[in-house]
Amino acid sequence: MTVGTHMPYDEALARFEPVLGLETHVELGTASKMFCGCKTTFGAPPNTQVCPTCLAFPGSLPTANAVAIESTIRIGLALNCSIAEWCRFARKNYFYPDMPKNYQISQYDEPLCFDGYLDVEVDGRTVRVEIERVHLEEDTGKSTHVGGATGRIQGADYSIVDYNRAGIPLVEIVTKPIEGTESLAPEVAKAYATELREIMRTLGVSDVRMEEGSMRCDVNVSLMPRGSSEWGTRTETKNVNSLRSIERSVRSEIERQAAILADGGRIIQETRHFHEDTGVTTPGRSKEEAQDYRYFPEPDLVPIAPDPAWVATLKDALPELPSVRRKRLQAEWGVSDLDMQAMHNADAFDLVEATVAAGAPAADARKWWMGELARRANESAVALATLPITPAQIARVTELVASGALNDKLAREVLEGVLAGEGSPDEVVERRGLKIVNDEGELSAIVDQVIAGNADAAEKVRSGKIAAAGALVGGVMKASRGKADAARARELILEKLGVSE
Ligand SMILES: [Zn+2]
Repeated sequence: MTVGTHMPYDEALARFEPVLGLETHVELGTASKMFCGCKTTFGAPPNTQVCPTCLAFPGSLPTANAVAIESTIRIGLALNCSIAEWCRFARKNYFYPDMPKNYQISQYDEPLCFDGYLDVEVDGRTVRVEIERVHLEEDTGKSTHVGGATGRIQGADYSIVDYNRAGIPLVEIVTKPIEGTESLAPEVAKAYATELREIMRTLGVSDVRMEEGSMRCDVNVSLMPRGSSEWGTRTETKNVNSLRSIERSVRSEIERQAAILADGGRIIQETRHFHEDTGVTTPGRSKEEAQDYRYFPEPDLVPIAPDPAWVATLKDALPELPSVRRKRLQAEWGVSDLDMQAMHNADAFDLVEATVAAGAPAADARKWWMGELARRANESAVALATLPITPAQIARVTELVASGALNDKLAREVLEGVLAGEGSPDEVVERRGLKIVNDEGELSAIVDQVIAGNADAAEKVRSGKIAAAGALVGGVMKASRGKADAARARELILEKLGVSE
């Protein structure tokens, strides 16, 4: 492994300008496959979701999945693409054991969607990533190489193939070369993939689980020497499967390529693999000789000609997109960019929004989710949304605080009780006896008791040392186990001792 041949990042950036390109594959969440009626459930026993068509038996014929076409058009529209009025599938010919037909039905020079863009926010700056194309194709099966140290085919004793995934609709989203991102290149790549994932979720077209491979990114990186306008040779890091790895792989590739170029070497055009453990990429297959896939129009399928009126209907029916939603919520909640970023990172938008919808003021909803609850989620290393407490319950707690029935300290105890499964906020208040003492008679009795038990302090207050009242208030809070209204207790103490401020 070639660790130690990397140029420090800042130096690499001083000498070279990075150019990025991202190809993202998204498995659509359709109930059936792209060209047959087989189910697409993830994790089913191997080779149980197959049929003559997706196993490419002679004489079987594909039929295109209408929902997949509709989903792809919706993705294109969300990415500001033009939608083809007429396009065809194409055969991409190559041999691979997990691809039973020995060609993949894809799209070549006639993608369904083209010429779009996606704006991403990085470091307070908007970067426009231009989209070259969004096309539809079918996924391959999955090979598992058994034996050997790496899980790769090299050194394996034997390989087995599962065709359940073969034929699942796959959308490929290809960017144009992304220039001018400079030292932010790794963050831009990550922000783009993050935004893309949120758009897919919002559209409801895929579960976009990177760890299960339903969204995967190929990351292209090349370097241009400063002062040059000619792109360098690029490498393609394949199937990067987490947002953090996308960022790290770009950074590592910039550092690696810079070291080679500075040394007078040349970059080999190849695919590479990113290793989470070492944080570097290693070579895969060389792409020095262009593969000839001998594309030709798929003769077994009719062309796709989406009616422009239908496309317009789909466009009108698009849900509110994540970036629009974030801007709206920020305005509604009146929070800073930094707070928005923190909520974004904590995946808290839905929770805060639902809590506000349940009647809580935005500031309170945000305070509880981003304060106490975020802390507890962090402690137990779980996602905020999986805490056993609902937005409606948080709204009820804020209501109890606003009405004076709870103070913040007691409210935290109520949350603790709800999280521990002791019931609703009202039930926890009841069971733990957490209500603030705002019964005047009860409070008055506690004050009398505290004055009687602290004769020295009481005498000081009587003689004009009002500061000594603090100790008495402390006594009342202690005697009431934190449930007294401290301001009212202080008033009563002064009143009873015959002094005024
Ligand atoms: Zn099938």
